Amino acid sequence: MNMILIGPPGAGKGTQATRLVENHGLVQLSTGDMLRAAVAAGTEIGKKAKAVMDAGQLVSDEIVIGIISDRLDEPDCQAGVIFDGFPRNLAQAEALDALLAGKKLSLDLVLEIRVDDEILISRIEKRAAESGGERSDDNADVLRDRLETYHEQTAPLLPYYEAQNKLKVVDGMLSIDEVSEEIEKVLKGEVTA
Ligand code: AMP
Repeated sequence: MNMILIGPPGAGKGTQATRLVENHGLVQLSTGDMLRAAVAAGTEIGKKAKAVMDAGQLVSDEIVIGIISDRLDEPDCQAGVIFDGFPRNLAQAEALDALLAGKKLSLDLVLEIRVDDEILISRIEKRAAESGGERSDDNADVLRDRLETYHEQTAPLLPYYEAQNKLKVVDGMLSIDEVSEEIEKVLKGEVTA
């Protein structure tokens, strides 16, 4: 099974993806993690991406589509993947549809983790304090820019996937365990939200 986790920054996509990896043997494909690794390694992609990431904006479609396409060709992805933080705009979503079709893969589910902006701002302040500045894009000012980017560019993916009959929504304001339970229900087909 191949699925997308979609939701604003701080919604808990990464945490839930980790649990899905553990419980279902899926492979997590986080473009944010891949880009941070490229920045840390000082690669050409990393050099291009760093300033854009620090400003809370989106790295070019060409870069992220390229890294996702390469990663999908690795054999472990045959177990099924969770796209975490990708796609983030309509051009990426269309490119992903084409990519998957070209690789004879399908997209089975798009799961939105829905959370209010105010809750996210308080969560990210907590996360920034805990990470001790490890992530240079983790502060309240950058979060506001990232939320704006989310609403402008990523939220239009929701009707896009709804039209494909693939979208399910879980309430991301529940506790982490409760969100996981809701996701499990969706996966079992118990919920048709
Ligand atoms: P994330 O960890 O998913 O929140 O991503 C951190 C940052 O990496 C984002 O704010 C963007 O600058 C960049 N990024 C991650 N995924 C994408 C993507 N699919 N398209 C463009 N930029 C991305």
